[in-house]
Amino acid sequence: MQNPLLNPEPLPQFLQIRPEHVEPAVREVLSQNRARIDELAALTGPTFATLIEPLEELHHRVSRTWSPVSHLNAVLNSEGLRGGYNACLPLLSAYQTDLAQSEPLFRAYRAIADEQGSELAPVQRRVIEHAMRDFRLAGVGLPVDRKQRFKTAMLELAQLQARFEENVLDATNAWSWHVSDAAELRGLNDMLVEQAQRRASERGQSGWILNLDQPTYVAVVTDAESGKLRRAFYEAWMTRASDQGPTAGRWDNSAVMEDILRRRHEAARLLDFANYAEYALATRMAHSVDEVLQFLHELAAAARPAALAEFAELEAFAGHKLAAWDVGFYAERLQRERFSVSQEELRPYFPLPRVLTGLFEVAERLFGVRIAERAGAPLWHPDVRFFDITDQAGKPLGSFYLDAYARPNKRSGAWMDECVGRKRLASGAALPVAYLVCNFLPPGAERPALLTHDDVVTLFHEFGHGLHHLLTCVDYPSLAGINGVAWDAVELPSQFLENYAWHPEVLQRIGAHFASGAALPADTQARLIATRSFQAGLAMVRQLEFALFDFRIHTEYSPERGARVRETLNEVRHEVAVVPVPQWNRFANSFGHIFAGGYAAGYYSYKWAEVLAADAFSAFEESGVFDGPTAQRFLDAILSRGGSRDALEAFVEFRGRKPQVTALLKQHGILAAGGRAA
Ligand SMILES: [Zn+2]
Repeated sequence: MQNPLLNPEPLPQFLQIRPEHVEPAVREVLSQNRARIDELAALTGPTFATLIEPLEELHHRVSRTWSPVSHLNAVLNSEGLRGGYNACLPLLSAYQTDLAQSEPLFRAYRAIADEQGSELAPVQRRVIEHAMRDFRLAGVGLPVDRKQRFKTAMLELAQLQARFEENVLDATNAWSWHVSDAAELRGLNDMLVEQAQRRASERGQSGWILNLDQPTYVAVVTDAESGKLRRAFYEAWMTRASDQGPTAGRWDNSAVMEDILRRRHEAARLLDFANYAEYALATRMAHSVDEVLQFLHELAAAARPAALAEFAELEAFAGHKLAAWDVGFYAERLQRERFSVSQEELRPYFPLPRVLTGLFEVAERLFGVRIAERAGAPLWHPDVRFFDITDQAGKPLGSFYLDAYARPNKRSGAWMDECVGRKRLASGAALPVAYLVCNFLPPGAERPALLTHDDVVTLFHEFGHGLHHLLTCVDYPSLAGINGVAWDAVELPSQFLENYAWHPEVLQRIGAHFASGAALPADTQARLIATRSFQAGLAMVRQLEFALFDFRIHTEYSPERGARVRETLNEVRHEVAVVPVPQWNRFANSFGHIFAGGYAAGYYSYKWAEVLAADAFSAFEESGVFDGPTAQRFLDAILSRGGSRDALEAFVEFRGRKPQVTALLKQHGILAAGGRAA
């Protein structure tokens, strides 16, 4: 059987890939790789060329085989494909774990570092440093008993995190709200109301039943005119999986949180870190606990006065004191009254073809590249388009797919993913290929696809990730593009490029009515730009509250005192929060980002990346947003370097100094342009 996943074609033959190809291909590649790794690990006198380069090639091979599968599973899902995909997940995870915890490979890397370290190129030394770091973080090299305890802690942690998630899910699903008086639904959108009515009639009841899923919760607290309804939803949402609220005590996560923090602390201590936050920072751009705390406190001190003023303004607008469940509602009204600009209204002015042209121009002007569509590349759907990116002289740099529209069996959201990673190894070379995936409304019979401005920002964001992947100059797959980039720095290129979607010059270029060709009216554009800083202080202190809470509990845990989850949250709120929070609020008990997910001691990175992006963009504002030398510096220091250098050093080389928060505060109107708080 000819298996297209094992074909060394330059681009995947998507439509030839059948579900029955998936598992055999993955099994074959992994078993060949395992055999090769055993050979490599047994080498006497290994060198960078004889051990590490071949390992980089194996890494590339797994990625080439798996990437089209995981991509198709996301954009062209079917039951058969999902079966194949799910069958491979444990195989891949076992392979990666074995590789990450291999003592022989660890010893070989160490020997190469000792023997060859000084003669290697900086990027090669970096490949070794990264590998050694990851071995250490996986517990490799520990004495046997500690290694066992580390493994046990990680295993228990995985189970506890899963339980945390299940408790939140069960508590969320257990609660719903029955409405019998239509007046209580005033303000909610028709779709939601219709759905609620259907749900009630399915259960043989009259009236409406609202569930506690996230879209409904957000819609209720933003749109529902009934304060009673908003309060009921707020209470149910903010007490999920806790000792409070309508499902009090049934899925309480309090003890689970305590256990999670204890295991994390234990695991970090076994690897000789002082606490879990330090362990997490070992792979980040931020280098120390103090640096992160100082960063968050600095932002909080600057944002709080603005947030207080915004809250006072909101109460004045409402004409009464506001409770926590009133804030979203009145903020939405105030925004509508002040800016009267709606995303739907903007659609006719942002036809996708024109936005794409404008976006490509931005990349071309900044980085001297050329982007051209190529016909004939194998695609997975007729709506998908394929583009080549070359330098000014026409030398190919890479390619990307754009899958822009929502359709059934396609995962929601927007993302950039690696199709082919860049490599230049003795065994062969490859240029990078990216997937850019969005979920925009498809075109109609008589009109092109029309985007909201949110969509436009999303497209620029993903294209920023794409440029990071495509303009890389790194030869080794483990550090090329976004690979090996510190996790708190990886959003820098994407958020940086978002700035162009807000810039008047770009807006004028991409904004024109699809039918009449009329330019986006100047006052609409001005109001749109003003929405960016609307209530930015309140939004910022909210994020800072989460970030400080997350970082402090992962720093301050001690076996004697325990986790102090509620006390810490109260202290943080006392420092930064502006909106009054009821005593029974148990937000932490459903804070999955940090207790169940990958953001543990990492929630700060949202703000961190925003600061980097705003500060980088401010360098362009100082010299002209299309200034050639500035763009070249950004490309040389950051964009093309992938994970091949320390992210902070890269930033300092570009900006001439460490990152500063000022640019972000100005961008959001929290600091006046003159630098004074306003
Ligand atoms: Zn992103």
